Amino acid sequence: MKTDFTTDQQADPQIQMMEEILRKCVHCGFCLASCPTYSVLGDERDSPRGRIYLIKDMLEQGGAPNPEIVTHVDSCLSCLACMSACPSGVHYQHYIDHARVYVEENYQRPWFDRLIRSSLSNILPYAGRFRVALKLAKFAKPFSFLFGQKLSSMIKMAPSKMPRATLPDGVNVYPAEGTTKKRIALLMGCAQKILRPSINEATIRLMTRLGCEVVIAEGAGCCGALTHHLGKDDEARQFAKANIDAWMSAIDQGGLDAIVINAAGCGTEVKDYAFLFKDDPVYQKNAQIISALAKDVTEVIAELELQKSSTSDLPSVVYHDACSLMHGQGITQQPRQQLEQVGFDLEEIPGQHYCCGSAGSYNLLQPIMADELKDRRQGGIDKVLEAGNAQILATGNIGCLVQLADGANIPVVHTVELLDWATGGPKPSNI
Ligand code: SF4
Ligand code: SF4
Repeated sequence: MKTDFTTDQQADPQIQMMEEILRKCVHCGFCLASCPTYSVLGDERDSPRGRIYLIKDMLEQGGAPNPEIVTHVDSCLSCLACMSACPSGVHYQHYIDHARVYVEENYQRPWFDRLIRSSLSNILPYAGRFRVALKLAKFAKPFSFLFGQKLSSMIKMAPSKMPRATLPDGVNVYPAEGTTKKRIALLMGCAQKILRPSINEATIRLMTRLGCEVVIAEGAGCCGALTHHLGKDDEARQFAKANIDAWMSAIDQGGLDAIVINAAGCGTEVKDYAFLFKDDPVYQKNAQIISALAKDVTEVIAELELQKSSTSDLPSVVYHDACSLMHGQGITQQPRQQLEQVGFDLEEIPGQHYCCGSAGSYNLLQPIMADELKDRRQGGIDKVLEAGNAQILATGNIGCLVQLADGANIPVVHTVELLDWATGGPKPSNI
């Protein structure tokens, strides 16, 4: 794609990066059919190619973007389906990430939007604050209709009963059962450990059972994806730096074979730390080390010996691909293979795979589109239920899990909860 940046603009390393991406786009439009927002709205400006043009115009013109461009940037889910579809290797992830940062730094949103976005970035990444917010939201639930669409979506997200965490405080190392095959660090994350603590608990049981010593590095927390997708670049970097420091010190104290991540959205972010810090003289090298070690939990399980369950009557499972796992990390086969390996029968959701609408905080900021996409995905899942005997829905990302559990006709669990159950752990409490 031809660009028209001034010489001054071209001196900016961020513009150079964007221009490099732009030049790969040949306008072919192969990405359009993969885009969930284009499939719903049918408007080219809500397609990958349309957004690429709009963002190019925004950057070439410089200054404050016009509100129309911001609307189309905001409506993008960052599901990255367009990246998988693009034959020219256009790195849409880095492109839209930079566009969001540009909008955040150059555009004055209406005060209510600023309030919502700042509440999200000041609450969700902090487990303690998030727990308090969910408790307050629980009491506001009966009156959620009074708060407008965005706030009521947030309030409705609060579980009616807060799940209780069972991991003991202060334990930073969980020894392997039997011979230690790997030493891994587990990212405990932020929102996930409050919304569904059983996922980390199942991961620790499963990984130690498979011969891993599991380290919870002190100081590691939110991966930064949530703030990054809100365009809050500095805050995202602060989270990333804290994680890099924490894991580098775990490496110093005994080495690490992998940094295991069981929330697909966080995995995509941590694997991208090397890019995030590519121009940072202090963090560049360590960010490369951390990104190279970052693995989705199923990638590490694939290197271990997963045994078939001794139980013969495991239920059938329908598997939902989280976009951040499928498109962000190219992982589709490992979870399926592992579920089948331990003894679950697998069912596939028919039709085109589109995002379920969760997409980090997207379902809170764009509730109408998110609900439409959720209904479409649930419609596909219902077809599986009508045709076969699937009894459980599994996925590898907390965002999809919460999104699809709202209104689902079957229990929704994380893949590791099933793998843990089948290999000796407890049955997930919602099955
Ligand atoms: S990231 Fe997803 S929503 Fe955004 S343009 Fe690409 S396919 Fe469409
Ligand atoms: S598929 Fe790739 S090259 Fe074609 S229009 Fe989309 S982003 Fe551009």
